[in-house]
Amino acid sequence: MATLQAPARPETRLHKAPFVNEPFTDFSQEENARKMRAAIEKVRAQLGREYDLIIGGKHVKTQDKLKSINPAKPSQLVGLHQKAGKDQVEPAMNAALKAFETWSRTPVEERAALLFRTGDLLRERKFEFCAWLVFEVSKNWGEADADIAETIDFCEFYSREALRLSKVEPPVQLPGERDYVFYIPLGVGAVIPPWNFPAAIMAGMTLASIVAGNTVILKPSSDSPTIAARFVELLEEAGMPEGVVNFCPGAGASFGDAVVAHPQTRYIAFTGSREVGLRINKVAADQAPGQIWIKRTILEMGGKDAIVVDADADLDSAVEGVAVSAFGFQGQKCSACSRAIIDERIYDKFLEKLKARVERITVGDPAENTNMGAVINEGSMKSILEYIETGKKAGRLLTGGKAAKSAGEGYFIEPTVIADIAPKSKLEQEEIFGPVLVVIKSRNYDQALEIANDTEFGLTGAVYTKSRDKIERAMREFHVGNLYINRKCTGAIVGAHPFGGFNMSGTDSKAGGPDYLYLFTQGKSVGEKIF
Ligand code: NAD
Repeated sequence: MATLQAPARPETRLHKAPFVNEPFTDFSQEENARKMRAAIEKVRAQLGREYDLIIGGKHVKTQDKLKSINPAKPSQLVGLHQKAGKDQVEPAMNAALKAFETWSRTPVEERAALLFRTGDLLRERKFEFCAWLVFEVSKNWGEADADIAETIDFCEFYSREALRLSKVEPPVQLPGERDYVFYIPLGVGAVIPPWNFPAAIMAGMTLASIVAGNTVILKPSSDSPTIAARFVELLEEAGMPEGVVNFCPGAGASFGDAVVAHPQTRYIAFTGSREVGLRINKVAADQAPGQIWIKRTILEMGGKDAIVVDADADLDSAVEGVAVSAFGFQGQKCSACSRAIIDERIYDKFLEKLKARVERITVGDPAENTNMGAVINEGSMKSILEYIETGKKAGRLLTGGKAAKSAGEGYFIEPTVIADIAPKSKLEQEEIFGPVLVVIKSRNYDQALEIANDTEFGLTGAVYTKSRDKIERAMREFHVGNLYINRKCTGAIVGAHPFGGFNMSGTDSKAGGPDYLYLFTQGKSVGEKIF
C-alpha cells in the first residue's frame, strides 16, 4: 500500500488559517477569459480517452463500456469508461475493507493533509477542470467555475472540520473518572452522486467520507464519469493510499443497487432524485445475511423550489433573481427556482419584465460561454419537452416553449416560462429539472406562503419583500432547508449556507456545514476510572 507523500507545504499554516471561500473567477477580465479558452483547447485535445475502473489502486477493464458524451454535441465522445457490474462488487468491497484497516487508523492530520494537497492541486488546474465540466455536462464558464470553487471549498472545509472534530470539547468529567468522546469512522461507504454537480457533490461526499477515516466505493453518474475519473487521478497524485477511494462507474440499477445491498456497506451517501433516494432507503433498511449494523443513509433528493415575490418587493431585483435561479445551468439544479409565486398586484408588471429578461438569455455551445448550454441527455430533453406541452395546455406560454434547434445538434431547449399555472397542478408539483419556470398568481402573502409550502419537497426557497414582518414570517413559516431573503435561491456557499432539504428533498444532511462530518462518524464514549 502506498504511503502518504510528505506535505507539499507547511501544514501548520494551513491548519491555523481560518477557512476562506475560493473566490469566483471574473471572466470579464481578458486574462481569465484567455486562460479559459486555452484550457478548453487543451481539454478538447484529450476528449475520447479511455478510463479504467480503479479498485485497490489497480486499473481494471470490463467488457461493457460506458460512453460519456458532450450534451451540446452528442456526436463528440468525452470519455470512454469501463462499466462496473455485479462482478466488480466483491473486488471493490474487499479493496475498500482492506484499506479501511490502515486508513481508519491513519492520524487525522495526515488525512486532512491529503485534502489540503488535493485542494492546492485543483486550484492550480482550475481552468482545466472547468473545461471538463463544459464538455461533459454543458456548464457555461461561470457555472463550471462555481462547481470547481465549491469543490476546492470542500477540500479546505472538511479537512478543518475533521481536525476540529478530533479535538472536541471533553464531556462532563465525573469525580474519580476521566471521560472522553471520540468520533470514529464508520467503515466502507457507497458514494453515489448525481451528474448536475459532477465535481462538487461527487467530491464533497467522497472527501467527507475519507477525511473522517472511511473508505469508499465511488459510483459516479453515467452522465458524468470523466470529471470523477479526473478527480480520482488528482487524489492519487496528492498521495491517496490504494483502496481508499475505489472508482467504479456503472449502472445505478445493477452495480449501484448491489453495492447498496451489500452486507458490508456501512453507509450510503447519495444525492439524486427522489425516486432513487427512496429506493436506496428501502434497500438499505433490509438486513442482508451477515450484516451486523443498521446502514446509515445520507440522502439528498429533489426539489420544487419557489420564489415568492411580494407586492412591496424591488421588482427589478426580483425579476433578476427569478431568472438567474430558474435558468442558470438550464434549470438543472436541485435548488433551481421552478415556481415563481407573484402577488396579484404586481403580477402583470412582473411578467412583462420577466419576459424581456428571459428573452435576453443566449442558448448554445457553452464552450463559447453562452448563458445556457444543453440539457444533460436525450431522455431528459424528451421529458422536459413533454412537461412543456402539458404546461401549454394548463397555463399561458409566456416565452420559449420548444427545442432551440438553431443552437446546434445538441439537447438545447429554449428558456421557457409558463404563466397562470394553478396551485396543485402537475407542473406546479413535479420536479421538471430543466429550463422551465411556472408562474402562479397569489392573492396575498398568506396565500403565497401556503402555495410555496404545498408540495412534498422542501429544499430551497426565496422571498422578495421589503417588509421586516414578512421576512420574519418567512423565516418561521417557509418550510425549506435553505431559505434566502431578497436574493436568488441557488448558489449556496460552503460554510455560509449549509445545504440540505426537508421532507422529500432529503435527510437535511447540511453539506458544507459544521454538522456534516458527524454523519460520517460514530461517537464513542469512554469513562475511565482513576485509581
Ligand atoms: P438519479 O437519482 O437518476 O441518479 C443519481 C445517482 O444514483 C446516479 O449515480 C445513478 O447512477 C444512481 N442510481 C440510479 N439508480 C440507482 C439504484 N437503484 N441504486 C443505487 N444507485 C442508483 O439523479 P440524477 O438524474 O443524477 O440527478 C438529478 C436529481 O438529483 C434531481 O432530482 C435533483 O434535484 C437531485 N439533486 C439533489 C441535490 C440535493 O442536494 N438535494 C443536489 C443535486 C441534485
